[in-house]
Amino acid sequence: MIKVCKFGGTSMADGMTMRRVKDIFESDPERRYIVVSAPGKRFSGDIKVTDLLYETHKEVEETGSCGEAFEKICARFSGIVQELKIDLDIGSILQETKKAIEEEKSADFAASRGEYLSGRIMAALLNIPFIDARDVIKFDASGKLESARSFELLARALSGKPKALVTGFYGEGADGKVKTFSRGGSDISGAIVARAAGAALYENWTDVSGFLACDPRIVENPVPIRSLSYKELRELSYMGANVLHSESIFPVREADIPIRIKNTFRPEDEGTLIMPTSKYRFSGRTVTGVAGKKNFTVIFVEKSLMNLEIGFARKILTVLENHGVSFEHIPTGIDTMSFIIDGAHLPSGVLEQIIAEIKEAVHPDQMRVFDRISLIAVVGHGMSRNVGTSARVFSAIAGAGVNVRMIDQGSSELNIIVGVDDENYERTLRAVYEEFFTGAEEIN
Ligand code: ADP
Ligand code: ASP
Ligand code: MG
Repeated sequence: MIKVCKFGGTSMADGMTMRRVKDIFESDPERRYIVVSAPGKRFSGDIKVTDLLYETHKEVEETGSCGEAFEKICARFSGIVQELKIDLDIGSILQETKKAIEEEKSADFAASRGEYLSGRIMAALLNIPFIDARDVIKFDASGKLESARSFELLARALSGKPKALVTGFYGEGADGKVKTFSRGGSDISGAIVARAAGAALYENWTDVSGFLACDPRIVENPVPIRSLSYKELRELSYMGANVLHSESIFPVREADIPIRIKNTFRPEDEGTLIMPTSKYRFSGRTVTGVAGKKNFTVIFVEKSLMNLEIGFARKILTVLENHGVSFEHIPTGIDTMSFIIDGAHLPSGVLEQIIAEIKEAVHPDQMRVFDRISLIAVVGHGMSRNVGTSARVFSAIAGAGVNVRMIDQGSSELNIIVGVDDENYERTLRAVYEEFFTGAEEIN
């Protein structure tokens, strides 16, 4: 059985943690392929190497050459190599990297060097072949992953190699230049390698003992989720539970490869098993987890008899499309429709134009815009089994003195999404968590 392991930034933060990674990787002969991130934070207030690299790119844009941020990066990698006492000429590698960042003048290229450098170090420490993701993970001209081609290239690169390391986070675009995934994307690289290697398990090693029922930065000590389905994972990670990148299920889903989240710093903990929805067995809990994100904008449109007006929604969506703006949800009533847009996808000044164009396109009776809205998703297959779940969600939120601004219950009965003002985000998450997770465990 083949296991592919991905180690995140905190697992790669310094020489000591890298030694842990080596111990974990080598303690199980089934762990054949490893994917690594760039060094993350060593302590709170520290700066991730990837952030320093984006900073370096800015320095290059402004002055033409790498500056202070790159010096910090050099100090970090040189320190790691010294600590590990490995035979690697990191000085020359860093010099070449500096030159390449200055020549390429690309944010993606600069950012990718964190994974490249930590990959070179880890491959040397483990004494296994190094595979540069640039040669095996490919994107098409529109920036989409070329899955089939990447699986094939990777499978070829891995074949005949009992062990190997592949760098996380990046690949190569159709223009031959390095292209990264979005932030946290090494999780996707790990899933691609798992798929290409025909792995029986994709292990994702991080700094928490699995997927927790709520964000541990908001709720103190949330309960770990023992197992969840791909669908629940997709909902929770998309809605802000960023322990695993929300796109990492796609490569493994088609091949039914389960994912296990493990803690590098407590490897004995069981962690979380994420499995195909068809194989998922009811956990006994009504709600599997709660997650959320801030900064959404809601455009609320009301018009009597809109249901009789053919093309009403299309006209509004065309306005959004013309501005290249995507939407997250469209809750509807009989005469109302709301368009929920992630604030990050709404460049400033565009909202006013969109509103004017919607008025022109559909002549609504009323239109209102709410910004700084947080969305909170309550997720779980168990919700469809238990009547009264939404009542419990809303009474918990009301009990916290928070006003609900919007409701969207997914048609799959897998989630309930509630909108509240950003200032009530943390309070709402805590209230919902407490309602479903701090009482006696409900087994029906
Ligand atoms: P890595 O660098 O290993 O990829 P990340 O920082 O990307 O790690 O993800 C792990 C972090 O995700 C945790 O330290 C935790 O703060 C955060 N997180 C947010 N929501 C959750 C959740 N529901 N369960 C576990 N961790 C969560
Ligand atoms: N190093 C990249 C980031 O910080 C990718 C990753 O860690 O997954 O986003
Ligand atoms: Mg991550």
